[in-house]
Amino acid sequence: MLRIGNTDIKYLKGVGDARAKLLADELDIHSFRDLLYYFPFRHIDRSRFYAIADFTPDMPNVQIKGRFLRFYKEGEGAKQRLIAVFTDGRSVMEVVWFSRIKQIENAYPLNTELVLFGKPNFFKGSYSIAHPEVETYDPSTPPQGLRGVYSLTEKLRKRGITSRTIQNLVGNLFDKVADITDIIPQSVCRQFSLMPLRDALRNIHFPESLHDLKKAQERLKFEELFFIQLHILRFTKRRNSSIRGHIFPTIGEHFNRFYSEVLPFQLTDAQKRVIKEIRSDMRTGRQMNRLLQGDVGSGKTMVAFMTMLIAVDNKTQACLMAPTEILARQHYQSIAQWAEPIGVKVRLLTGSTRTKERKEIHESLIDGSLDILIGTHAVIEENVQFHNLAMVVIDEQHRFGVQQRAKLWSKNALPPHVLVMTATPIPRTLAMTLYGDLDVSVIDQLPPGRKPVMTLLRYDDNRQQVVNAVKDQLSKGRQVYIVYPLIHDNDKLSLRSLEEDYQNVCATYPGYKVCYVHGQMKADEKDHQMQLFVSGEAHIMVATTVIEVGVNVPNASVMIIENAERFGLSQLHQLRGRVGRGADQSYCILMSKRQIASATRERLEIMTQSTDGFVIAEADMKMRGPGNMEGTQQSGLAFNMRLASLATDGQMIAITRNAASDLLDANPQLYGATTSPAESSGSSLTTLSPSECNIINNELKFRFSQDTDWSRIS
Ligand code: ADP
Ligand code: MG
Repeated sequence: MLRIGNTDIKYLKGVGDARAKLLADELDIHSFRDLLYYFPFRHIDRSRFYAIADFTPDMPNVQIKGRFLRFYKEGEGAKQRLIAVFTDGRSVMEVVWFSRIKQIENAYPLNTELVLFGKPNFFKGSYSIAHPEVETYDPSTPPQGLRGVYSLTEKLRKRGITSRTIQNLVGNLFDKVADITDIIPQSVCRQFSLMPLRDALRNIHFPESLHDLKKAQERLKFEELFFIQLHILRFTKRRNSSIRGHIFPTIGEHFNRFYSEVLPFQLTDAQKRVIKEIRSDMRTGRQMNRLLQGDVGSGKTMVAFMTMLIAVDNKTQACLMAPTEILARQHYQSIAQWAEPIGVKVRLLTGSTRTKERKEIHESLIDGSLDILIGTHAVIEENVQFHNLAMVVIDEQHRFGVQQRAKLWSKNALPPHVLVMTATPIPRTLAMTLYGDLDVSVIDQLPPGRKPVMTLLRYDDNRQQVVNAVKDQLSKGRQVYIVYPLIHDNDKLSLRSLEEDYQNVCATYPGYKVCYVHGQMKADEKDHQMQLFVSGEAHIMVATTVIEVGVNVPNASVMIIENAERFGLSQLHQLRGRVGRGADQSYCILMSKRQIASATRERLEIMTQSTDGFVIAEADMKMRGPGNMEGTQQSGLAFNMRLASLATDGQMIAITRNAASDLLDANPQLYGATTSPAESSGSSLTTLSPSECNIINNELKFRFSQDTDWSRIS
């Protein structure tokens, strides 16, 4: 983007060897370019100093000039705070710190002219500021307008590097570089009225006005998302253009017979729509990679089965992989029962399958007599070979990485179609980035007749009422889950734990059998306990979140979640999905301490008000940020974003995705295809010059050189 972009930062005026090392270690700034892209995390208005007397209660962050008169401490231990009396020469106010008390007391001298920056709080008739930024007043600097604030580390501060230092360095850099070539093609800049790169970089560091700052941020955010989408779509398009998929021309005998003679209920409209989407993928000759999202209980298994029947009808085999033995077995039970009447052969393969049976399965896979294999990770082992595997379904995607998906591909010369199913309702914007290589189908409807789970928030002092309600359900023959945040007691957190409470539960509900599962048990012991509950022999299951995924016990009508305040929204929703699977009214009781933060209460109240997984996922993402969403870690695709936010920039994600897709379609050489561009359908397709292509390729290489997952599967 600029010829000297890769120049070592130590050659910049004002840096040198020592500072270069500091900048590299602390801020990951190694080159001129890194510095240019080290954006301020916010901007402040330094155009004037305010007087304390002019404060108003609704003021934003302001700048005040004055000095500290004295410091004193209040409170003990963790509650201790440091208070300083500050004067601007006419009035006084208090400045408060709740942490880093020692450092601060030592850092700021009394009676020195300082500049504070912070938000005035109005409380009990006077103003104070908590944790302001503090700088020494320097009369030689002219009054500034908008100024960037850069995040720094403690170590940098100790070495005298301030926000101002960074700003000066960036200034030196701009003196040095005259030309910054844009990395987004002219045509795209024009189409979306983007500020040119050089102006954007200048304005994000040194904005001339709020308007320019906004345009600059918008442009750079666009750039960030645009390149992420180019990166993802490049692989998708290369794959689609180079890999052929199985073509299933017919819906055949098994599918039709199943549909008219066996199917035990009417498909919901959403199920029908999704099957159609899958079906049309399979006709095109391109290999399907589809994410099927559907809330718990929405009937994904049926969709998976009917999809697999299409493969079977076209003389190929299908395979379904689940993350746990219990889940695999449950799928097997449903599917075997549906498949038997139409003569389709189904087997189950897991870690505990006996050698003799395993051998039979291997043979029937190779000779092609087995139609559908269901199992755990066992199905991707090296020695499991198929005659002609053309359809793979993966349940609960977030437990499997991209690599495992890739492993299944290699089971056949022509890679199978892949359908991944998840009950984690990922907001669409996140899905587009996270699973950018997948098309997305959504089952947004539950089968008719389901009663939504009634969710109640109860405090520890209501416990007796809750116990009575549970007894009532037990006496009606229902089963109950009790979920704990911890296995063992942990004094520090004073939470209820499974181990500590187990005896308690047994004593509270005499005459009922209590089983338990948690993550530290051996797999077969866990299975045994789980089976006790599934068979109905045990009435109460105490568990940690290991029961989160997929278990289906329709007779369980109550779930109690202890210390619900400790769980994230999406996790609570997943847990709650274990009840409400039968015809009876089910209940989910969130137990919590009465003393909780208002944000926590708000979160729990969302649970009591909504049973819609997408509503909950959106709320969760807004409250916690997408980095904490389930699945983002394992996928390895949580792109490091500086400006954009998955939670709030949904619209721009969609826009950049389309723009990137159009650009690739018009310039297939960008993804390594030799074919000529797709027939122009509109005017938005623009052919790039070779040098523009070069710029984009270099930029992608620069931005995503660490990211190897994708290349491996393309
Ligand atoms: P999930 O999407 O959570 O995997 P399942 O596939 O386990 O959901 O389906 C939950 C239950 O609903 C199963 O007992 C299934 O047989 C049933 N089911 C699925 N589709 C329908 C439908 N269209 N009408 C009625 N019941 C259905
Ligand atoms: Mg399921």
